Amino acid sequence: MSHRNSGDRLLTLHEALATALKTVFPLHETETASLTEVDGRVLAADVIAQLDSPPHDNSAMDGFALYLADLSVQQPTRLPVIGRVLAGHPYSNPVPAGAALRITTGGWLPAGPDAVIMQEQCRIAPDERWIEVDPAVAAKLRLGENIRRRGEDVSVGTVLLPGGWRLRPQDVALAAGQGISALDVIRRLRVAVASTGDELYEPGVELPPGAIYESNRRILIGLLRRLGCAVTDLGILRDDRAIILPALRGAAATHDVLLTSGGVSVGTADLVKEIITELGAIDFWRLAIKPGKPVTFGRIGDCLTIGLPGNPVSAMVTFLLFARPLLLKQMGAEPVEPVRWQVSADFAFRRKPGRREWLRAQLRFDPERGPLVGVYHTHSSAALSSLAWADGLVELPEECAGVAPGDPVNYLPFSGLGAE
Ligand code: AMP
Ligand code: MG
Repeated sequence: MSHRNSGDRLLTLHEALATALKTVFPLHETETASLTEVDGRVLAADVIAQLDSPPHDNSAMDGFALYLADLSVQQPTRLPVIGRVLAGHPYSNPVPAGAALRITTGGWLPAGPDAVIMQEQCRIAPDERWIEVDPAVAAKLRLGENIRRRGEDVSVGTVLLPGGWRLRPQDVALAAGQGISALDVIRRLRVAVASTGDELYEPGVELPPGAIYESNRRILIGLLRRLGCAVTDLGILRDDRAIILPALRGAAATHDVLLTSGGVSVGTADLVKEIITELGAIDFWRLAIKPGKPVTFGRIGDCLTIGLPGNPVSAMVTFLLFARPLLLKQMGAEPVEPVRWQVSADFAFRRKPGRREWLRAQLRFDPERGPLVGVYHTHSSAALSSLAWADGLVELPEECAGVAPGDPVNYLPFSGLGAE
């Protein structure tokens, strides 16, 4: 049994994360997945540009390619149009000085012409055999105008995307633009999720007296899927040793992470901590945070165990701020700090310094006062309605003794925490 931090002093979130991160190692198994399967996955290695992009100088506009030096700034210039370039159909003849070439957006620019004039800026003969450019327009046209140069977006050999990057649709598009059809990604993190409590029932059944419907798994499984984890739902486990022990032992043998909620505070029916200690080890189980003081962190064999508190608000907040960075590291991604914006408080709040605290918050923009953050009318950690109302959290540091309207506070948008 190892209760390294069961003493009086609670670990700060910062200390707990630093301690836990040291024991979490990135997965190294990789797989090759087609571009249609890689959204949200973590890159196993740098992706290097194989091509210049664009692969050829081309036109950014529908217009006419010409030589800037041919245009007079004293009088209108008439140029013969000697041909046309459509996107996908390169023009292979030389373009002599004194001539113009019709070109569409994306059309490859042949050697010679050094500017493209937009078609709206010239007079075009009805049969398109010549164009005329006014001196005022000519005076404004610059060398290279409306030309996209070869390699100006990406040049061959550069790192397109670094290993450890979590792929978003635009990243996948970048790889596709290079003709890459598959990427090496780290295998999905396998996470088992269980809720514990005799009082918990699935929606859809009639509740016996004293019971409530289970909700935490809906939060945790949804957030885990958004992270790209492969989730096993272990369902609701009764507060019974004979049920919890084999369930946790079995799941630990086949998963990277075991995520439980409930059953970790100090009650007779709070068995999870006891059982993990028996099957493995618990590194710490109490943090100086609110909500969510009883968070446990440990392992059974090679499986990390993260025990979150039972109240839904506590479960969500501790998942986002404690569990998520650990999972990101294990997934092979960089566990970046959540985005924090400093904005003005549109509320008053009294509290005792000591624990880091998060309030359910909503950001709004006031035309006179700028961005303002408000908080929910109740701070109960059982209030599921507050989570649905909020678009983020206000974070109060350990030493904060209260907030007055107008005080600067840190607002953490849910979008920066993967909870959108
Ligand atoms: P516990 O951590 O087991 O002591 O639970 C603390 C509070 O959270 C109790 O009021 C539980 O009924 C509630 N709770 C625990 N687990 C869940 C869950 N999965 N869904 C909704 N409420 C829960
Ligand atoms: Mg319980």
